Amino acid sequence: MINRTIKVFADFDGTITSEDVGEAIFKRFGRTERVNRIIEDLLSDKISSRQCWDELCSSVDIVSKNELDEFVDKIELDPAFKEFVKFCSVNQLELIILSDGFDYYIDRLFNKSGLTGLEYYSNKLFVDENGTLKAEYPYYDSDSPTSANCKKNHIINNSSDDDYTIYIGDGNSDKEAAQFCDFIFAKNGLLKFCSTEKISFYPFKNFSDVQNKLSELLNKKNLRKRHQAELKRKHAYRAE
Ligand SMILES: [Mg+2]
Repeated sequence: MINRTIKVFADFDGTITSEDVGEAIFKRFGRTERVNRIIEDLLSDKISSRQCWDELCSSVDIVSKNELDEFVDKIELDPAFKEFVKFCSVNQLELIILSDGFDYYIDRLFNKSGLTGLEYYSNKLFVDENGTLKAEYPYYDSDSPTSANCKKNHIINNSSDDDYTIYIGDGNSDKEAAQFCDFIFAKNGLLKFCSTEKISFYPFKNFSDVQNKLSELLNKKNLRKRHQAELKRKHAYRAE
């Protein structure tokens, strides 16, 4: 095998799951009209991602932990994801999940699927003693309003100039981060963004598409880094 370090960064909501779990929770437990308006405001860049989550939390009166767990347990992961995790480990690709959603359901869904020990960074969500939903943002960076968990910083902190970086994502919170990576796998909103901005990407529907393409790439003797991503990373490394 060719000796090179490859880091794989993957979004969670809408990428590893088919639907956005965070949004689905608030659509189920929050006041519908208000929830829809808040999400619209986010998508039209009227509010930041952090504001969006805070407002969504306040749109829920009270929630019982049991009901929340029951709701989360119905959500399915991409059936090909587990195999992809194995593929990464066999090929020594470091897989890191970057989510602008919440630890609450990521832990629960990974555990349910028998996926333990996966490295991930996300926001935090908990139900307090009054039954109120509360969010915390340990990785917030005010320079990155599109994601309450600054994904770009995790990419910079977890890779070096010599590494090849892969990004897999679908939405708003991936737009900035993906630009720092050499190979982008995109669907839905991220796909539209990359097309409009003329950023090269591979379209994908599920993790078996990603795995097939990555297998091809791994067999190549020479992998080309994306020049624009190199420039962005250099700039960020220097700013640290
Ligand atoms: Mg997503």
